[in-house]
Amino acid sequence: LGGTVKEMPMHIVHIAVEMAPIAKVGGLGDVVTSLSRAVRDLNHNVDIILPKYDCLNLSNVKDFHYHKNYFWGGTEIKVWHGKVEGLSVFFLEPQNGFFHVGCVYGCGNDAERFGFFCHAALEFLHQNEFHPDIIHCHDWSSAPVAWLFKEHYKHHHLSKVGVVFTIHNLEFGAHFIGKAMTYTDKATTVSPTYSKEVSGNPAIAPHIHKFHGIINGIDPDIWDPYNDKFIPVSYTSKYVVEGKKAAKEALQKRLGLKKADLPLLGVISRLTHQKGIHLMKHAIYRTLERGGQVVLLGSAPDSCIQNDFVNLANQLHSQHHDRVRLCLMYDEPLSHLIYAGADFILVPSIFEPCGLTQLIAMRYGSVPIVRKTGGLCDTVFDVERDRDRAHAQGFEPNGFTFDEADVKGVDYALNRAIVTWYENRDWFNNLCKTIMEQDWSWNRPALDYLELYHAARKLT
Ligand code: ADP
Repeated sequence: LGGTVKEMPMHIVHIAVEMAPIAKVGGLGDVVTSLSRAVRDLNHNVDIILPKYDCLNLSNVKDFHYHKNYFWGGTEIKVWHGKVEGLSVFFLEPQNGFFHVGCVYGCGNDAERFGFFCHAALEFLHQNEFHPDIIHCHDWSSAPVAWLFKEHYKHHHLSKVGVVFTIHNLEFGAHFIGKAMTYTDKATTVSPTYSKEVSGNPAIAPHIHKFHGIINGIDPDIWDPYNDKFIPVSYTSKYVVEGKKAAKEALQKRLGLKKADLPLLGVISRLTHQKGIHLMKHAIYRTLERGGQVVLLGSAPDSCIQNDFVNLANQLHSQHHDRVRLCLMYDEPLSHLIYAGADFILVPSIFEPCGLTQLIAMRYGSVPIVRKTGGLCDTVFDVERDRDRAHAQGFEPNGFTFDEADVKGVDYALNRAIVTWYENRDWFNNLCKTIMEQDWSWNRPALDYLELYHAARKLT
């Protein structure tokens, strides 16, 4: 690896439908931005092609300007360019209104809209004589890139391009994914454990020889308690106790919770079956019963689930008004304050391809309590159970884990965490310091991606 990877700058083009912070729905958006930045920092060239949604958060795009237009698919496509987190982004705006619908997902014709976008993006590369080394596509929404490229563009001057396809969540659009797996040169998913968990899936199994699990990282500049405008006091691991105390007080004040030194459990999540909703609810009750405070920030794409949580919020807020808040919305600034102000962040997922929440939590010195599945298993090592496994990977134990997706499982991890907080505070504070110092950035995984890019390129 080493030598070649460092010497030859490559040109990588991501074709994606999410990108943090301007069009982020979940972890996919974070990964597109932070992986690109890490690869760019290793002296490679990266461009991103994204739909120009009407709901883009343009205040985070620098030097935004009209670039050119072209015609394809029976419509004019306007192309805009700008910089997002320092990355070059081309925005495609087809004049057929496909991306003027007020949202990223959630239209009846998402597959048609994104299929159109994928083909339009390849056409843009073709018409403008881009010669990238790698085209990287993501999940079902840009999976069509893999086969459209091989069917329509491989024999043009784009013939030297390697295609890499990353599965962020197999749950979505598995039937698209199987076809992309057939056509792509290399495929990845976002953690080694998840890659094993899905290896028997009929979309994956025939292609296992080109399928790799690479853990996601987080961008340490985007998630940085020393430089975060949403928290009251900057802190590094040395001042984790002071920094988190100030953040907890600010959080309590902002949400109208009792200002007191109590164990505070945070949950930041999409509210879907995958994320273990019944386990979150149980953990809320258990934490309240043990005298703690709880802040949940989450929103449900499914209106039944959202209503269910609204009812739960009403009930809990009247029973324990100064100890629990359910904030049922998407709120990035508030998420920063919770990551900093919580003692624990709970991620009780039924399955979890990688999970970024636990990684961000650790960066802010919040102790993760997670179910041992997928990427959660690869990144959280139980303080009692996983010492050897942690050491084998160069880490110290960093959290509390449980195995079974039931209330007993949650209790097992949560009770130990809360007891430690009450009875062994120095040890607990030291754990916060240790986890803050762990490196869950892209430093390691970006090198794995580069190795894979080189391998994909060789196949062409
Ligand atoms: P997924 O992609 O399955 O939703 P991840 O753990 O990979 O889960 O990524 C979730 C990301 O979305 C994290 O950056 C988390 O902080 C953020 N997030 C989730 N829900 C909310 C919310 N309601 N408000 C703000 N940020 C949220």
